[in-house]
Amino acid sequence: MMTLVAFAITVGFLFSVATTFILPGQSLYWEISTLISVFLAGHWLEMRAVRGATGALTELAKLIPKTAHLIKGGKQTDIETESLKIKDVILVKPGEKIPIDGVVLEGDSSIDESMLIGESRPVSKQKGDKVIGGSLNQDGSLTIQVLKVGASTTVSQITKLIQGAQSSKPNVQVLADRAAGYLFYIAVAVGILSFIFWLLIHPQNIIFAVTTAVAVVVVTCPHALGFAIPTVTTITSSLGAKNGILIKEMKALELARKINYVVFDKTGTLTKGQFVIEEIIQTSSREGGIENILSLASSVEQNSQHSIAQSIIKEARARKIDLQKIIDFKSYPGKGATATVNGKKVAVGNESLMKLLKLKTDKLKTRDAGTIVYVAMENKLIGALVLTDEVREESKKAIDKLHGMGIKVAMLTGDLDYVAKEVGKKLNIDTIFSQTLPEDKINKIKDLQSQGNIVAMVGDGVNDAPSLTQAHVGIAIGAGTDVAVESAQIVLMKNNPLDVVKAINLSRKTNVKMLQNLAWATGYNVFAIPLAAGVLYPKFGILLKPEWAAILMSMSSIIVVFNALLLKKVKL
Ligand code: ADP
Ligand code: MG
Repeated sequence: MMTLVAFAITVGFLFSVATTFILPGQSLYWEISTLISVFLAGHWLEMRAVRGATGALTELAKLIPKTAHLIKGGKQTDIETESLKIKDVILVKPGEKIPIDGVVLEGDSSIDESMLIGESRPVSKQKGDKVIGGSLNQDGSLTIQVLKVGASTTVSQITKLIQGAQSSKPNVQVLADRAAGYLFYIAVAVGILSFIFWLLIHPQNIIFAVTTAVAVVVVTCPHALGFAIPTVTTITSSLGAKNGILIKEMKALELARKINYVVFDKTGTLTKGQFVIEEIIQTSSREGGIENILSLASSVEQNSQHSIAQSIIKEARARKIDLQKIIDFKSYPGKGATATVNGKKVAVGNESLMKLLKLKTDKLKTRDAGTIVYVAMENKLIGALVLTDEVREESKKAIDKLHGMGIKVAMLTGDLDYVAKEVGKKLNIDTIFSQTLPEDKINKIKDLQSQGNIVAMVGDGVNDAPSLTQAHVGIAIGAGTDVAVESAQIVLMKNNPLDVVKAINLSRKTNVKMLQNLAWATGYNVFAIPLAAGVLYPKFGILLKPEWAAILMSMSSIIVVFNALLLKKVKL
């Protein structure tokens, strides 16, 4: 673009210098000066608009208050937020912003996290709850212990993700760049041709020939093409962030509009992942009763990350059962875990784990009422826990909406057939893959892909990471585990399956905007180039002068930027 402008100005200027000193005839100084002024004014307007579009990052930075009230030795001092260290204790008064990520030690209050995760309702926080720096404390005062500082805080992470998204290029960018390349050659070629034509074939004076050449080169400038796409992607990523959707890879968002199969992980994604223990069964009363089974199970689960583990530990705590020390912990993804408790080998997990340990489970009769976790000690089955997990309210709505958009829905889970079927029936899911081991989950995705589907995978757990990578579009939900976030291309801040629908909508809207912008950036050339070359001159005396060519070209740039800005107002 710059080459073309420089070329046009140089030709016009040299020609004018020549007419001043050597050749007879008029100069083009006036036209060239106007061209430069118009061009600079257009550029300035555009940069202003682009700056407005990148505002999301500055807005995020503004969320963090400069100072925090540090509590030390019973005294309160105000220090800079940046100098806080992990484990520091701070006080947040009502109406103040929370300076940093931490855990509540004292007090309770409701907190508005909308600016960070897009959740509009305030959430109530008590002792033990985590709070995010940048959210707004509403009615109570809170004593908070700092958990994260520097680059690992939520705000820093979000900032990093948005920056990454803004610099990640969608595929249409390649198309735009290529079109800009072609336009360059077209500009130079048509410019030279019209110069030759008006000089030799249909002779006018040389001024006329140079003027048309300059006008052609200026009007063809692929200026708008340079930012037709980047302006859209910047706004898309900020708009996404405002709605709790972080886009790590623009290419994935670009593809998301074509998704026709969404695969959901069950536990923690479609369901809440907060299991309730319905029943504890023992094989015989010799093993110290139900309490002992729960104690052994929760002790082993201390080192697991699975939501089942957390739920079992919660139940043990509620029943005031102390966790015992364990050694030799081993995790079996999609199966369970083993460890040594008090010198005895304990295994906690599903039927596949028991099979692996060569233990028969059929002597233990349970109703088909939930997920069954067996507990074995010293190679003997001693009992089982029956757990159930509630379906999220939003899951049904999300699936209905996806169906409405012509998208099929599958569920992928390591859980038992009947548990999966029950959830599947409640939610009206098209395809159910149950009892799949973590390593098989990826194959289910591959199968769907080989049938020609564009597949999105939505999951939260470590065990979903490979499938998130395999799917065309990997979506981590609830800002899940770090591994899931790492493997996904789109990260949803909230635990809300409805945001999957929003992400697909965002993709569709973004795509429309990108195409519109490409049209605005190039389309006007169809009539502007011939006009500038003087096609209408012989018959009608109409000619696009260089100044007007500059205005037209700048107009197209400005329209492109403002068209992109309209995306800011879109509701997802
Ligand atoms: P999902 O795909 O539903 O998220 P996973 O593949 O993680 O489930 O696990 C599948 C099954 O393996 C669970 O339903 C459970 O029976 C068992 N399991 C996995 N991890 C554990 C654990 N830490 N403790 C007990 N059981 C587990
Ligand atoms: Mg899961």
